[in-house]
Amino acid sequence: MGMSHAYIALGGNLGDVLTTFVKARKELHALPSIRVSASSLLYCTAPLGPDGQADYLNTVVAIETSMTPLALLEILQGIENRAGRVRAERWGPRTLDLDIISFNDMQLESDVLTLPHAHMHRRQFVLRPLCDLDANWQHPRLRKSARALLNEILQGNEKPLAEGDAW
Ligand code: ATP
Ligand code: MG
Ligand code: MG
Repeated sequence: MGMSHAYIALGGNLGDVLTTFVKARKELHALPSIRVSASSLLYCTAPLGPDGQADYLNTVVAIETSMTPLALLEILQGIENRAGRVRAERWGPRTLDLDIISFNDMQLESDVLTLPHAHMHRRQFVLRPLCDLDANWQHPRLRKSARALLNEILQGNEKPLAEGDAW
């Protein structure tokens, strides 16, 4: 059985987000086809999208899986739904968002799945935790490391995120 390596970004700003993250990580790890191999630190970040939202918590986990990317996406959507995710306005407040950041060095652009995640290279709340896990991770299309992509954002005068916490 071929094992693949993927990074999953977790985000949320509704309810007890840390408890939701812990539960989601347990749900993932409990599946025979997924092993959660590492977790980055946990970051508090300013919201993207509609105004007036609470701050987000963000983190990234590394997994080893025997699943296909599409099967993994379905599993993640099931976990989001069980965490009470309601899709209202785009980028609106949510209990839990689970995005596949990368899956091996696969490049994919379909209606339901883009790999690596279409916006990951422009998001500090993804790149910072990814750097905790592997700063040398290479974006297969942009051919730049997570560290280089994060540095580009910060050189655009964005303020670096405050230190993260273990969870
Ligand atoms: P963003 O994609 O900008 O982070 P979002 O996470 O809030 O926004 P969702 O409502 O969670 O968006 O997902 C919208 C759709 O994105 C999903 O139904 C899914 O089909 C699609 N999608 C495409 N690529 C990915 C990916 N790499 N990981 C997760 N979902 C993806
Ligand atoms: Mg998202
Ligand atoms: Mg999402």
